[in-house]
Amino acid sequence: MTSGQNDSGVLAGDERMLIDGELQYTASGATFDVIHPASEQVAGQATDGTVEDMERAVGAARRAFDETDWSRDLEFRYHCLTQLAAALDRNKEHLRRVLITEVGCPITVSGSQIESPIAEVTHWAEHGKNFEYLVDTGVHDTPMGPARRMIHHEPIGVVGAITPWNVPFYLNIAETVPALMAGNTVVLKPAQLTPWSGSEYGRIVTEETDIPAGVFNVVVSNANEVGAALSADSRVDMITFTGSTATGRAILASGAPTVKKTLLELGGKSAHIVLDDADFNAALPLAAMMACVMSGQSCILPSRILLPRSRYDEGLELLKTSMENFPVGDPWTPGNMQGPQISEGQRKKVLGLITSGVDSGARLITGGGIPRDLPVGYYVQPTLLADVDPDSQISQEEIFGPVLTVTPYDTDDDAIAIANNSIYGLSGEVSSGDVDRAMGVAKRMRTGNVTINGKSHFGITSPFGGTKQSGLGRRNGDEGYREYLEGKTIGLPA
Ligand code: ADP
Repeated sequence: MTSGQNDSGVLAGDERMLIDGELQYTASGATFDVIHPASEQVAGQATDGTVEDMERAVGAARRAFDETDWSRDLEFRYHCLTQLAAALDRNKEHLRRVLITEVGCPITVSGSQIESPIAEVTHWAEHGKNFEYLVDTGVHDTPMGPARRMIHHEPIGVVGAITPWNVPFYLNIAETVPALMAGNTVVLKPAQLTPWSGSEYGRIVTEETDIPAGVFNVVVSNANEVGAALSADSRVDMITFTGSTATGRAILASGAPTVKKTLLELGGKSAHIVLDDADFNAALPLAAMMACVMSGQSCILPSRILLPRSRYDEGLELLKTSMENFPVGDPWTPGNMQGPQISEGQRKKVLGLITSGVDSGARLITGGGIPRDLPVGYYVQPTLLADVDPDSQISQEEIFGPVLTVTPYDTDDDAIAIANNSIYGLSGEVSSGDVDRAMGVAKRMRTGNVTINGKSHFGITSPFGGTKQSGLGRRNGDEGYREYLEGKTIGLPA
């Protein structure tokens, strides 16, 4: 582990939000603090927007959709998003420092949170430009004679995007750029802990692109009720959300009176089934790394490791060694791959769940507390718990920390049953020396995505989303683009 404080890179983001083309503070001038999780110090402020600000932003987005030709001018949208990709790229070192300041994400692993989403802007611009918006389905028989039918794929309208704090810049882009390219107008509500990845995005849109006033708005606020106002507003046609299942349920309920389309990417408690013929030396160090990188603050993390009883001790030893040697420390120091948890509240939650695991009979193999050499910053030791009861709280609840639970199993059927014993169904993983056997297991896992032998399911070109209480709908891939469109079927003379 690396000790010492090296926060020379700390950089505050823009304090303002973007409503109807203007960067602004809320009328009262109220702001809230943004904390750098590695130093526990206030790094700066963000404007504390209100429900009234949200109502103005929704009004602006509604007008921009109804009264401008943004929704119909594909070429202009392509121009604007190409400009946006270039502008974000010019600003990327600034965005990286702001991101590390508010999230505490290690600089060494920040590429997936900065370079990758910027590349996705270009991807969506190209995908949207080449998409077939008008599809001729041919001539159909009807009682009134033959009719030609066409499907016109049209934008849905005003999209409200509500994002969490774990990968804020990436998710701000992932939730809004395909929506914009498809011709919708957008109101983004970033998370309270990470307002600046949203406010900086708004600043860049208004200062460096031709995206018209009202097409893209960012409402920054420290209050959950401002997000709730967005999801309840009758002028909003669709909500796209990433966050906890509890908040997802609230959003679904508040959107119900206006029958809003709702795209939800929620919690996960993914299982990694390590079959008895797996290459443990390849699978388990990687599993440990995935648990610690991003401090475990990832919804797709396979946090439940299922090991065959015949190779249980061997597997535990490999996981223990990998976790004990994982580079934890100051996010500004190159080489560190696990930084702090985002807040004291999150760290308390993680430590509380570890305690609940031990109380329910789990065996603490390593970690379990705060690293002794990192007294400042919201750090948690990489933690391994063995003999975990599949029904216990630690096996059922999303931890969002650098914690792996390990449960032994006897047969492949047992492993699949344990993996599926969850309200969640986001991701999963299978490791095996026999890919066909792994495929058979993967097909029986009730999840939206599965990785086999470390080959990731996740990427911009492939649909991603959850089953069960992990979500509704898909991001990424062509399916992800279509979520922001509605097909209008038009009958016309043959
Ligand atoms: P966490 O509890 O870890 O902060 P959430 O899933 O609650 O994560 O929050 C994710 C996002 O949802 C944040 O932007 C937050 O402001 C927003 N949010 C929280 N409660 C509501 C709600 N009732 N309606 C709409 N958005 C909400």
